[in-house]
Amino acid sequence: MTVSETTMKETVQATWKKRPLIISGPCSAETEEQVLETAQRLAKTGKVNMLRAGIWKPRTRPGSFEGIGTKGLPWMQQAKKLTGLPITVEVATAKQVEDALHFDVDVLWIGARTTVNPFSVQEVADALKGVKLPVLIKNPINPDLELWTGAVERVAKAGIDQIGLIHRGFSAYGNSEYRNAPMWHLAIEMKRRNPELPFINDPSHICGRRDILLDVMQKAVNLDYDGFIIESHIDPDKAWSDAKQQVTPERLAEMLDEIVWRKEDSASEEFHAALEKLRQQINHLDDELMQILGQRMKVAEQIGLYKKNNEITILQTNRWNEILERAFKQGDKLGLSKEFITKYFDAVHMESINHQNKIMND
Ligand code: PEP
Ligand code: MN
Repeated sequence: MTVSETTMKETVQATWKKRPLIISGPCSAETEEQVLETAQRLAKTGKVNMLRAGIWKPRTRPGSFEGIGTKGLPWMQQAKKLTGLPITVEVATAKQVEDALHFDVDVLWIGARTTVNPFSVQEVADALKGVKLPVLIKNPINPDLELWTGAVERVAKAGIDQIGLIHRGFSAYGNSEYRNAPMWHLAIEMKRRNPELPFINDPSHICGRRDILLDVMQKAVNLDYDGFIIESHIDPDKAWSDAKQQVTPERLAEMLDEIVWRKEDSASEEFHAALEKLRQQINHLDDELMQILGQRMKVAEQIGLYKKNNEITILQTNRWNEILERAFKQGDKLGLSKEFITKYFDAVHMESINHQNKIMND
């Protein structure tokens, strides 16, 4: 190993521990000039720790740009040489892993369309046996934490001991302001299950558009994410892929300045004491809610018994609409969103139905 390769390995190790960890670069490597100029302009901001670019692009539909392929790897290598930034690319097959390693890619990432497929993840994992480098794993396109976890396990079993998670949102059919629904609750659960793994956010693929990137980034910071992988391009509107969601390196730097950065543990003892008190209040209120929900189900069971004895159906649509209408009105006064009320009552209603069903079938 040459001196500069050894230094690079140390840089990668140091970068992996940086908070926030900021990875940026184009959706796709397009030309040598584009890769080098993006890298230099990103490096100049002083705010980016790693350069990304897609070399092989897994496109949902055929016919769009499918990536420049292996010939883009020497451009990334050159960009690293010019800027000192470690480089990362997406890999989905054993051959791609082999090529990436050949061109000294420092960190690999597994894309959302690969995480869904255990055969592909296993192929990548097998190609990584005996290799020491960090691997980032994106959430699968569908909202399934077990698939995401399975990918982590496969890569870990291959002997990779530096694994990070990327939250890039989940496919959702129908209108939404997002390209991929963030489903924050799933990301939070994944983070809870893997507290030791770096957890970073990919606002580009969540948003699919520039104007809401900052909102999503702020939310991720508020939720204590460890950093971002965000797409940037020297001329975003002319990008060969994902043009609508990319920003210039300079705009990225501005956005990083606009974010209110929060630290989990920088505050004073007073702050911690106040926080602890508020958390106890929350625990207390949650306990009360549970008690009340338990009581509600007991009442539902009594109704179930009554319905059973009188041979009427569980679901009474009018009654259900009435409950929802009341809740929306009340929720409005209390500052609870219609979305929350709907989800909450759906869950409570389903649980009531299950309790009643059990009584009626007994
Ligand atoms: C990408 O990062 O350019 C990409 C293809 O992302 P994802 O796997 O999240 O769709
Ligand atoms: Mn992209």
